[in-house]
Amino acid sequence: MNDKIEKVAQWIITSKRTVVFAGAGLSTESGIPDFRSPGGVWDRYDPQDFYFQNFLSNETSREKYWQMATEMYEPMKKAQPNPAHLAIAEMEKLGKLDCVITQNVDGLHFKAGNSEERVLQLHGTAMHVSCLNCRKSYDRDMIQERLRKTGGKAPRCDDCGGFLKPATISFGQSMPEKETEEAHRRSSLCDLFIVIGSSLVVHPAASMPLVAKQNGARLVIINRDPTPYDDMADAVIHGQAGTTMAGILEKLREKLKQDG
Ligand SMILES: [Zn+2]
Repeated sequence: MNDKIEKVAQWIITSKRTVVFAGAGLSTESGIPDFRSPGGVWDRYDPQDFYFQNFLSNETSREKYWQMATEMYEPMKKAQPNPAHLAIAEMEKLGKLDCVITQNVDGLHFKAGNSEERVLQLHGTAMHVSCLNCRKSYDRDMIQERLRKTGGKAPRCDDCGGFLKPATISFGQSMPEKETEEAHRRSSLCDLFIVIGSSLVVHPAASMPLVAKQNGARLVIINRDPTPYDDMADAVIHGQAGTTMAGILEKLREKLKQDG
């Protein structure tokens, strides 16, 4: 294990472009439940109500959506970045991070200190709400407060009356084109691709390590469980994201110090 941590730290030092790919495992270590796991919100709600088409087509689905979204938002709002988030933010400060491509919508990379331009949010963000008609963006807390005051009525846009929805990507809604393209581009250009806390099964995000590897990058996978890409990875660490990344950061700092 320590050998691997040392090796990965050395690869980060020599890398010219390191891309981090962050999955749900990173957020669960900050206490945010993975909505796909047993006991998650899908046990209590009917996923059908949350397909984008249903959200568009009827008021009852919109209200149910907001009820579930409110329940998911509460732990996100309270969550704090864990040592893995902090290590990724530190990599940016050390000039050792090209970007982080994230599947998480909780904004924890920003709370940890990463800058806007270095975070590609593939599934959008739960920290904002946007109008599906005119795209106007609202602060999430403000809309949650409005929802509370109206007894859960589905909120509408102040400007155009369009439906408001958290700026996350729902089932049946297409991936954000700009972010997805940019994530593919960065994956193809990097020389080191580090997966943290993702089982790499959700597409199209899961194709990115492949893109990186095919373009000559080293692939590192840090995940609690095995992934379909473990066999092609240059290093695989089956462990907690927080402790592993904290270990890598410590080695990284030591080496940077030695190099002067
Ligand atoms: Zn609008």
